[in-house]
Amino acid sequence: MCGVRTSPLSECAGARFTVRVVLSVDERRLQLKEVWRQACACRRCPQLAASRTTVVFGSGNADADLMLVGEAPGANEDKQGVPFVGQAGRLLDTLLGEIGLTRGDVFVTNVLRCRPPGNRDPLPQEIESCQAYLFRSLELIAPRLLCTLGNFATKLLRADPATGITRLHGREEIRTLGPRTVRLYPLYHPAAALYTPSMLEILREDFHRIPALLALEPPPQPEPVPAEPEAEAEAEVMPAPEPAQLGLF
Ligand code: URA
Repeated sequence: MCGVRTSPLSECAGARFTVRVVLSVDERRLQLKEVWRQACACRRCPQLAASRTTVVFGSGNADADLMLVGEAPGANEDKQGVPFVGQAGRLLDTLLGEIGLTRGDVFVTNVLRCRPPGNRDPLPQEIESCQAYLFRSLELIAPRLLCTLGNFATKLLRADPATGITRLHGREEIRTLGPRTVRLYPLYHPAAALYTPSMLEILREDFHRIPALLALEPPPQPEPVPAEPEAEAEAEVMPAPEPAQLGLF
């Protein structure tokens, strides 16, 4: 993996600039844990914060080349604090296994970190409130390939609410998301494929292209840009207990 990461700000002749520094895997893991702690204390979506059992931040390898982004935790995920542990998760594990990968090789997360009550769709306000955790995780993990699973992740990460997964699945593209440029690869959501054999076949075909996409040269990274003064403002952080998921990084 590339060892050059974009770090926070440093002072230069009175101006503040984003600079590239080399962060080791351990440093990135530590910073990811800090983001995790912030998410665990998050109350930006009062309804979700009131009804959740756990915050499902994400799990897997903090140094992964492949990151997968689903929609939102369901009931099982909410109980266990780990994404994709229900039926859709078992299908995801099977598909990963077919291309020689395990959960320990990849990082799996969602658009939302809290379960929407009754498994309703994420609300636009919730997606907006939660996206900083996703983008920061992406920046720190710096995967080569980012698979969006289903419509919510695809529309958010392509910043195009009008174009759905039926048109986009299996078509990789280069996208710059904040300070990172990644190869983005939209896929059908495993939960949707569970009950539709034709969709499962397409998902499997698309999935089987992942090793070839991972083998491509990573896309060139953008030059660091001067940071806005607002970038310094830290999210309000409340102390949180050490999350149980930390062992999974
Ligand atoms: N479980 C998750 O964690 N995310 C989904 O999108 C579906 C099930």
